[in-house]
Amino acid sequence: MQQVTVIGAGTMGNGIAHVFAQSGYKVSLVDVSGPALEKALATIGKNLDRMVAKEKITEADKTNTLGNITTYTSLAEGAKGSQLIVEAATENIDLKLKIFKQMDEVADANAILASNTSSISITKLGSVTQRPDKVIGMHFMNPVPVMQLVEVIRGYATTDDVTATIMDLSKKLGKIPTEVNDFPGFVANRILMPMINEAIISLQEGVAGVYEIDTVMKLGMAHPMGPLQLADFIGLDVCLAILRVLHDGLGNPKYAPSPLLVNMVTAGKLGAKSGEGFYSYTAGSKELVVAPSFNKK
Ligand code: NAD
Repeated sequence: MQQVTVIGAGTMGNGIAHVFAQSGYKVSLVDVSGPALEKALATIGKNLDRMVAKEKITEADKTNTLGNITTYTSLAEGAKGSQLIVEAATENIDLKLKIFKQMDEVADANAILASNTSSISITKLGSVTQRPDKVIGMHFMNPVPVMQLVEVIRGYATTDDVTATIMDLSKKLGKIPTEVNDFPGFVANRILMPMINEAIISLQEGVAGVYEIDTVMKLGMAHPMGPLQLADFIGLDVCLAILRVLHDGLGNPKYAPSPLLVNMVTAGKLGAKSGEGFYSYTAGSKELVVAPSFNKK
């Protein structure tokens, strides 16, 4: 495999393009939004600069990595010649079904179609293609260049060969792949999202403030950050979409999203990417500018 297409140049797509390009693959990065593509290249450049400064890579590695990435606004153009397409567009089932149908039409006959979805059924995505045996989940973690895990999700029809190819490929990217089956939320989000939701319900019920909830979980459970800050980094809209998939797919009321989370997303408070969630952020960064935006008792 030499050439890979990444669809969606947002938070995850730019990271996925980065790691493939840094490992020597030619990457076609596709987004419907031109500005999103420009922003993605700038982000990758900044992240590479940080690695050069830390002497993890050389200036030449940076130039080669950026040289491996070509951007497209057309999926048909961007899919040409790739042996793997990794879809990392917005977490919305109708959108992803549309993209998978299109990917199937324009991709090389033998290309593997992967999704970075956090929770949407891989079997369902495969069902709208003529190649469900070659459809698989390749769930990278955020931030992609830093996090080691790739949750590899086998759809109902995914073959052993395709799974083995994606497991090997993930190792070539320097990641540690873990194989799981296709059930709502897979493993990562089936366990993580109920914890985040419970933290939001605790806040909503006044059990404690933002700072206190995050401090208990951070220091008490040795988590690198609290669940509310993590929710801000993931994106509150993404958290809500995943909880809805868990709630619908598993049919258990324990997965119902907290009304406070629904309200915040409706009000456009999406976390770090919108500048405000449970904390406030300098525009477009993950730097906290104020302590908790919710009352501290
Ligand atoms: P994002 O909102 O940052 O980026 C999504 C990008 O998709 C945007 O740039 C948008 O313009 C683009 N897009 C929308 N429709 C498109 C189309 N038809 N063709 C091409 N591009 C299109 O979202 P994100 O956080 O990067 O999430 C992407 C995927 O990764 C989702 O499935 C999400 O569940 C998953 N994911 C997210 C995280 C996280 O921490 N944010 C972690 C793991 C997995």
